[in-house]
Amino acid sequence: MPGLVIKPRSRIFHGHDWVYASEIKKSFGNPQPGEVISLKDFKDKPLGSAIYNPKSQIVARRFSRRKQDLDKDFFLRRLKLAFSLRERLPVDPLLCRLAWSESDGLPGLIIDRYDRHLVIQTLTLAMDQRIELIVDVVQELLSPESIVVRNDSPMRKAEGLEPSNFIATGNDPDPVTLEHGNLKFKSTLLTGQKTGLYLDQIDTYQKVSELAEGRKVLDCFSNQGGFGLACARAGAASVTCVDISGEAVSNVTQNADLNDLEIRAIEANAFDYLKNCDETFDLIILDPPSFTRSKKALNDAMRGYKEIHLRALKLLNHDGYLATFSCSHHVTRELFLNNVRDAAVDARRTLRLVESYSQRPDHPVLPTIPETEYLKGFCFQLLPGR
Ligand code: SAH
Repeated sequence: MPGLVIKPRSRIFHGHDWVYASEIKKSFGNPQPGEVISLKDFKDKPLGSAIYNPKSQIVARRFSRRKQDLDKDFFLRRLKLAFSLRERLPVDPLLCRLAWSESDGLPGLIIDRYDRHLVIQTLTLAMDQRIELIVDVVQELLSPESIVVRNDSPMRKAEGLEPSNFIATGNDPDPVTLEHGNLKFKSTLLTGQKTGLYLDQIDTYQKVSELAEGRKVLDCFSNQGGFGLACARAGAASVTCVDISGEAVSNVTQNADLNDLEIRAIEANAFDYLKNCDETFDLIILDPPSFTRSKKALNDAMRGYKEIHLRALKLLNHDGYLATFSCSHHVTRELFLNNVRDAAVDARRTLRLVESYSQRPDHPVLPTIPETEYLKGFCFQLLPGR
């Protein structure tokens, strides 16, 4: 098997599974893009099997510490293990991420379950080349009504892959109506934002909504309205959802009708809305997109968070709540907490932390691959009279 010799002190010697170009001492056997290769240390000791893509910044991703091919048996074993974990976790097994890339030993492969339909993404060249095999194995294991391949993630570009969305098995499932707790969502799997719903946040809607009864709620960066809908269902006095996308705003309105709830949905840039708003609220939710995908843009991202935190604090009633989220890996929990703290200092307000949130457990974190931890959130209450 062709492969790579890895330089000393590379991240793989600290438990990581990725190899960057700068960590390669030499290659042997002429490895081909998308091929399974073997990794070796500088003393020729094997480090395991990896997928190879010289076009990517991450040239190799290890998926096994042994000699292993990406064959049918391998996918059957890894996927069975991934699926059985979701059955045991405290998540709805019919609305969950069934397989999540590195965290399931399947770098670049994501499988989401939306009731009787599955959505697959292949974000690495090697997985993309094996999409037919993966679809066959998934069909054999789960017999879903349809399998949608949803390959328009911008992350594919980094691997030199073009966008490609198609229905792999079954009929076009769209639009689908999905039920979660006491809410229904209308969604489109082949064309909607992300793959259907934001599964990583879906259980947090309920948690945040427990603070909403009788209160005026503002859900900024609402997308299809998950937080807002849950708050309306929990008996909020009023709910306003704000999103910059017209499609998202019309989804909020549709979902409100579907659930017989009243929501004011506004198409606006949340930065401007918060700046110009002349109302105050009792609960403000901020769930923006990742402001940065790179470490370089971290300062700009932190300025963005500071601005929305500051503006939201100014719109909060005297004992109001602020639930704020960051889905960028580079913004650590500590940095994010500091950011809210600095905003509170500037706004001359005292906050108390009442709850912390993280990504749903069907998106497990590998401590040796910090990039697998990305979503964090806090809920603060303004301390009245301070
Ligand atoms: N809370 C949502 C997920 C939000 S994703 C949920 O659980 O479903 C981020 C959303 O922010 C997207 O819907 C995107 O359209 C929106 N968005 C991005 N930039 C924005 C801006 N400047 N102002 C308002 N919305 C924005």
